[in-house]
Amino acid sequence: MTKKIKINAALLVLCCIMFTVGCKKENKIDFTKQEEIQSKGSYILYKLKDGGQVSVYINEKGEYIVGGDVVLSKDQINYLETNKIGAKSNGNQTQSTFTGEFVKLWYEGVVYYTINDPNNSSSIIAAINHWESNTPIRFVQRTYQYNYVNFSGVPSQGGGSSYLGMKGGMQEIKLIPNAGFTVAVHEIGHALGLMHEQTRTDRDQYINVNYSNINNDWKFQYDTYSVQGREGEHYGPFDFQSVMLYRSINSEASINGSSVPQMTRLDGSTWGDNYYLSQGDIDGINYIYTPIKIGWVSNYSEITDVSEYANKCKKDIWINFYEGNFNWITLPKPITVKIVCTRKDYSNHNYVYQIISQNIITLPAGTQQYQIGTETYEEQYDQNMNEMDGSYSITYNVIRMR
Ligand SMILES: [Zn+2]
Repeated sequence: MTKKIKINAALLVLCCIMFTVGCKKENKIDFTKQEEIQSKGSYILYKLKDGGQVSVYINEKGEYIVGGDVVLSKDQINYLETNKIGAKSNGNQTQSTFTGEFVKLWYEGVVYYTINDPNNSSSIIAAINHWESNTPIRFVQRTYQYNYVNFSGVPSQGGGSSYLGMKGGMQEIKLIPNAGFTVAVHEIGHALGLMHEQTRTDRDQYINVNYSNINNDWKFQYDTYSVQGREGEHYGPFDFQSVMLYRSINSEASINGSSVPQMTRLDGSTWGDNYYLSQGDIDGINYIYTPIKIGWVSNYSEITDVSEYANKCKKDIWINFYEGNFNWITLPKPITVKIVCTRKDYSNHNYVYQIISQNIITLPAGTQQYQIGTETYEEQYDQNMNEMDGSYSITYNVIRMR
């Protein structure tokens, strides 16, 4: 017993030392400084048809970056290009493979990852543990999964860089050598779909942004971010403890080395760095990753046995919603779904598929059921019950987007 107690005491001391060392390291971290933008690139301000606008920095590598360290995926750039004011309608565009969603979430909150950054691996693992112990997000080492985060490489600017949300395929989180725990937590936040706290569209109700002491290279990092004005982008009151918030005073962003803050509370007071996930960060992640599942209800509205070898039927399709083990719910928050209608024809002994329509809709909070359409089947078989040319079906598929 004595021995065991001694070991525990030793562990306690060891933990204290590690914690102290950790804190000292953390005090050096200043990701706002590290997110300095080089002046080689160019800026584009996207003004969108829905009234939102996004400032994008294009660096010398041609990467599209918002908010200093968030790299946009091709889908996201496509989204901006096709939704900006003056863009041609893409109604007839046949190769429209992009989702139309600006931020995609990780399916069921599971993030697959690989670490190819030995210099930062202990910080990355600590950051992953921090996310897992505070949120329902789970990180699983990738084996063969298509969508995953690869911790690898050094950012072309700043202390770290990350895609916003799930990009699809491999996406990198890049960290400078010895970037530290907090930068890793912050960049993972972007990969989960979080933006910088100061870019909220309602931030002026909480803070003053002093553009007169922000140099041109940094201005866009303080602009509000309102792409679709969707609920869930800003959850709860402005969070001064958020790990996604820049500090008040960022000397790199100032004009002529002035120490005037770039941001203050409305009463003029300032804040410093945040090292850990705040309750607001945790609530926000819980909000966007609440596991709502989509159920499926169908009613035959017509069944016609044309003959022994042919039938015709119609089914009206609704979706409804549940949590856990089929606990039916009304939507506690809006969700966005993509409804795909597909026609399948049997022709020349082959099935030919054709997408008839794809719609992305946001169902409001309080929705119990939503009718998505009517499926049709007209099937003919030969005497050996093989399907014959002329058979077809029209069916629906529903994909939860967020
Ligand atoms: Zn950031």
